[in-house]
Amino acid sequence: MSEVKKVLGIYGPGSNHWVGDGFPVRNLFPSNGVNEQINPFLMLDYAGPSYFEPAKKSHGVGEHPHRGFETVTIAYQGAVEHRDSAGNAGVIFPGDVQWMTAASGVVHEEMHEKEFARNGGTFEMIQLWVNLPKEQKMSKPRYQGITKEQIPSVDLGNGSYVRVIAGELHGIQGPAKTFTPVNLFDVRLKAGSKVELQIPDGHNSGVVLLKGDVVIDSSNELKGEARIATLSPDGDHVVLEAKEDTTLLVLSGEPIHEPVFSYGPFVMNSRDEIMQAVRDYNDGKMGHLG
Ligand code: MN
Repeated sequence: MSEVKKVLGIYGPGSNHWVGDGFPVRNLFPSNGVNEQINPFLMLDYAGPSYFEPAKKSHGVGEHPHRGFETVTIAYQGAVEHRDSAGNAGVIFPGDVQWMTAASGVVHEEMHEKEFARNGGTFEMIQLWVNLPKEQKMSKPRYQGITKEQIPSVDLGNGSYVRVIAGELHGIQGPAKTFTPVNLFDVRLKAGSKVELQIPDGHNSGVVLLKGDVVIDSSNELKGEARIATLSPDGDHVVLEAKEDTTLLVLSGEPIHEPVFSYGPFVMNSRDEIMQAVRDYNDGKMGHLG
């Protein structure tokens, strides 16, 4: 019995702010009140699209820590350079994805890539935070630099397609390794397309509009830029009808039913664990950048 996931709510950004001097973001949760309904996802910032003048010194965000979750960065325009205290480094270009598991803790920096910074240009990224289950929060940090060539596409006809970054869509597997079941789809719809995407029953999910105009389940419209629709865990698919050429990020995941204590860059299961994270960072236990 096939049942459609229902739209729970449609939200715009809850805050607009800068992350460092490189990421002018619109926050699509949790600042707008989208909370438990999108568990296991913790945060989504949509940076840009914004034009940056040529600069001698790269913009970005300098050395800062994370513990207890994963940061996923998806590049749409421009390029980001990452370097962390676990010894991992990488650059992502349009179409590429960086999946960084902070777990027990890293210190990293996220900067505009040097040549992009020198030349200037339009910058557009999404950063998504994915929670880790308790048993993985203190595991070893990991870095997955995923190039666009590694990300398979599902052809939906009429020029519409989905790039499967993580999880599975219509039998096609994405390359990202995850600790709990997570789907992450880069969805491009041509005006006039009507498509059905399978999203597992029991997954919390969201449809993030970067730009365009799409009708979800024939009655809920996402139009313009930087909007999110949250969907019910019940149901096993969503129907999307594009009225214009539309770019979406569809995320879904099995909820993690554990307490969430979050403080800035640390997301743990208790207040004590947060205090410990602050101490460990201050004591240099998350390392330093060389
Ligand atoms: Mn960071």
